[in-house]
Amino acid sequence: MSISEKDLRVRFAPSPTGALHVGGARTALYNWLAARHSGGKLVLRIEDTDLERSTEANVRQIIEALEWLELDWDEGPLSQVARAPEHAAALQRLLDSGAAYHDAATADDVRAWKNEHGAGKGYRGIPDPDGSGAVRLRVPADGDTVVDDLIRGEVRFPNASQDDFVIARADGSVLYNFAVAVDDAEMGITEVIRGDDHLSNTPKQLLVLGALGVEPPRYAHVPLLHGPDGKKLSKRHGAASVQELREAGYLASAVRNYVALLGWGPGDDETLLDTAELIARFRPEDVGRSSAVFDEKKLRWMNGRYMREMDLDRYTEAVATFEGRKVDERLRVACMIAQEKAQTLAEVWPLIRFLFEEPVEDEKAWRKTMKDHATSALTSAREALAGLESFEAAGVEAALEPIPERLNLKPGKVYQPIRVAITGTTVSPGIFESVAALGKVETLDRIDSALRRLATAPEPAA
Ligand code: GLU
Repeated sequence: MSISEKDLRVRFAPSPTGALHVGGARTALYNWLAARHSGGKLVLRIEDTDLERSTEANVRQIIEALEWLELDWDEGPLSQVARAPEHAAALQRLLDSGAAYHDAATADDVRAWKNEHGAGKGYRGIPDPDGSGAVRLRVPADGDTVVDDLIRGEVRFPNASQDDFVIARADGSVLYNFAVAVDDAEMGITEVIRGDDHLSNTPKQLLVLGALGVEPPRYAHVPLLHGPDGKKLSKRHGAASVQELREAGYLASAVRNYVALLGWGPGDDETLLDTAELIARFRPEDVGRSSAVFDEKKLRWMNGRYMREMDLDRYTEAVATFEGRKVDERLRVACMIAQEKAQTLAEVWPLIRFLFEEPVEDEKAWRKTMKDHATSALTSAREALAGLESFEAAGVEAALEPIPERLNLKPGKVYQPIRVAITGTTVSPGIFESVAALGKVETLDRIDSALRRLATAPEPAA
């Protein structure tokens, strides 16, 4: 079977025990890409069987994260818990066929058996047709259960060392691997793409599927992500949640692109591929076998590339949404002059705030910049700007440009005092654009205040 068939069915099956982190986002993305590449279907299944740790709030957060990433699904969200009747029916079928049995042994008996036989040997229970104990799946005595993994290749698990494992507790509630296998079968899943922390679950799921008499899906186990320090990424170690990435000012498009390249792609993790290209190119069997490194610095870099390439209307809208502001002409102009400078949405506002509010004086910036030469630089700048009729960036530039030579100062010694005077900080968009965007009245006002302060306050030592 080729994977580009329209009947491909994949699923993303998060457990709502926490937020969606980059690793989960990558799994979701790969499933989504596989579905969109083939014209198949993506099912969203919420694996909420851990009743103690699963919460509605987490479900909402996961769904919001997927929506923000613009990863849509064709069926669902379906709750695994809500499928308890289907799980019970499947369990009954296995009991009826003899593929599963109630174990008469007590927990102590099992422990004693394990002590006697050692860990390498699979436990076999004591079938009790009228029993009510835990239900175990009958595992063949010999042979291997083989995972023919699209990424890992063939992985063999000897049956002799596999327990007849418990698929349902004495109270009838089914266990995780059983529920997953039944759901995959009944939802017609043809391909399971997930983190390779689940590889060890796969033989159990295959044995259940075999007992149910259904053709198993193909599996693609994606190597887990590591941090730049080489350690496995985990919720406790370096794994940002999608929500955190969003709040840090990353664009969904850049996150999609960067996350897609973690373990898959045309060679390096710096290739810009838009969503259409990702869909056109992605095939799970091309995911690499070695673990990939999530490096936020590279995401930042990529985000900067996306930010610079956005058209101004979308950029302005993204900044407005991020800052909770309305789009207007002033914001548009501000965004235009900041676009080259910011790598994340969060970096934009500090660069353009001076156009909306009085500058908050940064004492350090003031001390560093407003030295002996500042008064003459600002006085000359004020004079040159006051004479301008139209206040365009080019005109501002023409007016200010002769000043450094005239005063025998390096350009920075003239422009930095202007920058600090009008923005309060030493970092801003281009000085000519900044002055032009602020406008004549406000610029002259701010230069005047700076000059007043320079005249009254003792000048810091040069
Ligand atoms: N619910 C599992 C998880 O969140 C995924 C199970 C699967 O994909 O089979 O890790």
